[in-house]
Amino acid sequence: MKSRSIAFNSPIDRRAFLAQALGLAGGSAAALQLAAAETLPKPVDSGADYLKEIAENERKSRSKDAQPLIGVGDKLKITKVETFLVKPRWLFLKLHTNAGITGLGEPIVEGRAKTVATAIEELTPYLLGKDPRAVAHHWQAMYRHAFYRGGPVLTSAISGIDQAMWDIKGKALGVPVYELLGGPTRARVRVYAHASTVEQIRQRKAEGFTAFKTGPFKERPARIIENKAFIDKAAQRFAELRAAVGDECDIAIDFHGALSQQVARVLIKALEPHAPMFIEEPVNCQEVEVMADIARGTHLPIATGERIFTKWGFREILEKKAATILQPDLCHAGGITECRLIAGIAEAFYAAIAPHNPLGPVSLAAGLQLAASIPNFLCQEQVSLGAGYIKKPFQVRDGYIDIPTAPGLGVELDDNALADKIDHDWRNRETYDVDDGSVVDW
Ligand SMILES: [Mg+2]
Repeated sequence: MKSRSIAFNSPIDRRAFLAQALGLAGGSAAALQLAAAETLPKPVDSGADYLKEIAENERKSRSKDAQPLIGVGDKLKITKVETFLVKPRWLFLKLHTNAGITGLGEPIVEGRAKTVATAIEELTPYLLGKDPRAVAHHWQAMYRHAFYRGGPVLTSAISGIDQAMWDIKGKALGVPVYELLGGPTRARVRVYAHASTVEQIRQRKAEGFTAFKTGPFKERPARIIENKAFIDKAAQRFAELRAAVGDECDIAIDFHGALSQQVARVLIKALEPHAPMFIEEPVNCQEVEVMADIARGTHLPIATGERIFTKWGFREILEKKAATILQPDLCHAGGITECRLIAGIAEAFYAAIAPHNPLGPVSLAAGLQLAASIPNFLCQEQVSLGAGYIKKPFQVRDGYIDIPTAPGLGVELDDNALADKIDHDWRNRETYDVDDGSVVDW
């Protein structure tokens, strides 16, 4: 990867950088003040003025008169949109600006990284020349002007762009994103780790985690109706994990929407004595009425959300009482902008937020910013704390990560460590019934 990001750790760093960029004598207070006055984001006098400026920028960017992307009076503009595949299956986005500030995002659908990269490419003509600080305005434009709204690919593309714009806005103002969202609402953020065996869950606990997630033990994909042995083994394996870490820890279980409702109902009953933290996707999230019926049939919390997009998707889940724990993915559901709105709607239904994230450290960083700005946060999923990807990997202590303090999303890619992780050709697994070869969910 050739491009490098420039992170400003404080307003002073930023002003010094801008003074240098403008060729001003370094160090003089007058020069720094001039640089700040010339280049720092203009205070917003009124919403109307700002919208007028956005409209003017948009007019210029659409002009056929070959307007330069960086011109007199243009304070901050997107100059380049860059995506790159990152192992094992991720897609990173970097937005560049005329001020040298870059923004990071993860626009990705697992198994469809190249499809989303193409969606980003198609959005690039809109983005070039735009002021990235008008995040909510651009979200509306990208979402509504698509005409065919929503879905995993388009909202994932918007999600990554949204994250990168928030990153830029925070860096431009010298504050973490949560400061711009009314935060902080907490000092640290609880995170959970994956584990499917006793050895793994003990290892994760030794690493500092106190919350975990597993899947139902299966020697083969589940049938529509399962036998007693299947149910008993799945419950027994969960009980072994519970015994390995004790009752003070939390263990969630993810059915992945891969069980029939008939099997899901029986397995939930078998798991109830072992007190899972929550049951995730007991059935496919498109079966909202069925999920709601399952929720009424158990005292265990039901969670869903990784394949639900935007506030409109989550509204139905809440209205039908299909789940009390929402798991929007900040890389799928519409980014930080939309997930914060989803959290607000959830709060009105007394539901909690546990963001889905089987992705990379930029996704985790976005989730931490959300968690630090909402009141109804439960726990953040993670599969990577960023070692080998970012310069300062996150640290887990007593099950928590301290909220970041650096501007923007608070992460900076480690280009040297990333060098051998660029590009991949990830393919999702295929699963078939062991008896008749028909296609089944995994
Ligand atoms: Mg899941």
